[in-house]
Amino acid sequence: MSQKVNIAIIKTAKSRLPETDFDNLPFGKTFSDHMFIADYSEGEWKNFQIVPYGNIEFSPAISALHYGQAFFEGIKAYKHADGKVTIFRPEKNAERFNLSAQRLCMPELPVEIFLQSLAELVDIDRDWVPAKENHTLYIRPFMFATDPYLGVTPSSSYRYMVLTGPVGPYFSKNLKVKVETHYSRACDGGFGFAKAAGNYGGSMLPALKATQEGYDQLIWTDSKEHAYIEELGAANVMFMIGGKLLTPSTRDTILKGVTRDTVLTLARKWGVEIEERRVSVEEVITAIKEGRVSDAFGVGTAATIAHIAEIGHDGELYTLPDPAQREFSNKLLYTLNEMRYGRSADEFGWNYPVGK
Ligand SMILES: *Cc1c(COP(=O)(O)O)cnc(C)c1O
Repeated sequence: MSQKVNIAIIKTAKSRLPETDFDNLPFGKTFSDHMFIADYSEGEWKNFQIVPYGNIEFSPAISALHYGQAFFEGIKAYKHADGKVTIFRPEKNAERFNLSAQRLCMPELPVEIFLQSLAELVDIDRDWVPAKENHTLYIRPFMFATDPYLGVTPSSSYRYMVLTGPVGPYFSKNLKVKVETHYSRACDGGFGFAKAAGNYGGSMLPALKATQEGYDQLIWTDSKEHAYIEELGAANVMFMIGGKLLTPSTRDTILKGVTRDTVLTLARKWGVEIEERRVSVEEVITAIKEGRVSDAFGVGTAATIAHIAEIGHDGELYTLPDPAQREFSNKLLYTLNEMRYGRSADEFGWNYPVGK
């Protein structure tokens, strides 16, 4: 970290740790004691602060609320058996943070400031990082436009914030998913590759309808023909077919996941043949019918690896091999946990240390 900024720190008078139930941590509902704040105006980032978690006040005219100049990231920190805390590959999220910023006409945040904000915030709240297996501290950096102005133009002022909170396993069960052939998550020339707030607002109605039909998640397909698989909910998707690892190649409709890169890196090291290309719904369905699909799963920070147990398409429901028996994805989960909780060597330098 070359150019560290000065962060003003106001600590909470009374920690909420004693009243927090670490055995009951639904995703995204529990927040640690502190949060990070920085403001952008007159062309520069300023007012770096760590303050007690709590409400913030803004004009009701801020353009983030009206025109969606807002985006986020999702990262996890892990506590090792010796008490050490590490954040998993935050440099990749810093890079993507700035890709999202560029697409939404928002200011980039220097990578060093992004990393410093995470490291210092997590260090202050390091007692909030759960020590239990499959439990982590979820880190949510985000940025939004703050000009109190109703004109449809890029704001000139912005706020960057980071929240954190302890989480347990995200998907507790194996997924029954539906191939979506009406709605789209993203389109060519759009901003599906950015973690823009609007992408998620737009996905809620199709996801709700799928839930009402008894599914857990959607497999998004391309917006032109609904013939090619793109993502699984807010995760990337992978299939093991005939011994080859198949995943949609990234394009502007697909978010370039850090977990996706992590899994492909491990698969490459293990000598697994990888195909990154357009993946048609038809070839996957045909391969399932022929019994050639040995594994299918979503990959993302929140879920890590989410097994797909059943796929619904065109009125048919297809059952995949028993998730508990799957070799590849279970080896991935095991290997990733060993690495991230510091029980195996960090051979790729993926664990970013926090504090001493
Ligand atoms: C966050 C996200 C992913 C997964 O990205 P990771 O960096 O692995 O967490 C994939 N797709 C979408 C749409 C996402 O929002």
